[in-house]
Amino acid sequence: MAFELPALPYAHNALEPHIDAKTMEIHHGKHHQAYVTNLNNAIAGTDAEKLSIEEICKNISKYPMPVRNNGGGHYNHSLFWKVMKAGGGGAPSGALAEAINKTFGNLDEFKKQFANAAATRFGSGWAWLCVKADKTLAVCSTPNQDNPLMDVSDCKGTPILGLDVWEHAYYLHYQNRRPDYAAAFWNVVNWDEVAKNYAAAVK
Ligand code: MN
Repeated sequence: MAFELPALPYAHNALEPHIDAKTMEIHHGKHHQAYVTNLNNAIAGTDAEKLSIEEICKNISKYPMPVRNNGGGHYNHSLFWKVMKAGGGGAPSGALAEAINKTFGNLDEFKKQFANAAATRFGSGWAWLCVKADKTLAVCSTPNQDNPLMDVSDCKGTPILGLDVWEHAYYLHYQNRRPDYAAAFWNVVNWDEVAKNYAAAVK
């Protein structure tokens, strides 16, 4: 079964003014679609066709680079669209809020560390909030389309929130101002979805 581009769970302009419609249109329809197409081409006729994208990521060292780059691209963007929504933002509640406070002290300190991970990732990559094997939270970043699920990653865990810091994610609206884009991200975060991801990861 070939991988497919998931539909955006909202309209292209739903995240404005924080993320503009044109960026969303190209990012989802062209960039993410290209990762899906190239992933399908890279695994055609191999056993990986029977696996989930999570299973492929977890054993990514067994695959050639095109699977790593495009498989990561597909997984990362699929998560990214879902952790945002129109009228998002605010603060998490419940078990996720408690875990953030326990690990980082408070929400602002978490945001500071996450923004720093986004700002200091040299070149293209992602900033993450993930659940480590011991079920505690960690902030980290990965290069290119790598992610914390991958066995090759320096920071391993289950991603529950991710921010794309490739220039294609923000350049039309923010040009070189990646920190402004990362700051605006908090206005569109879908904390209910992050909480759902957290609950699944600590199960
Ligand atoms: Mn992207």
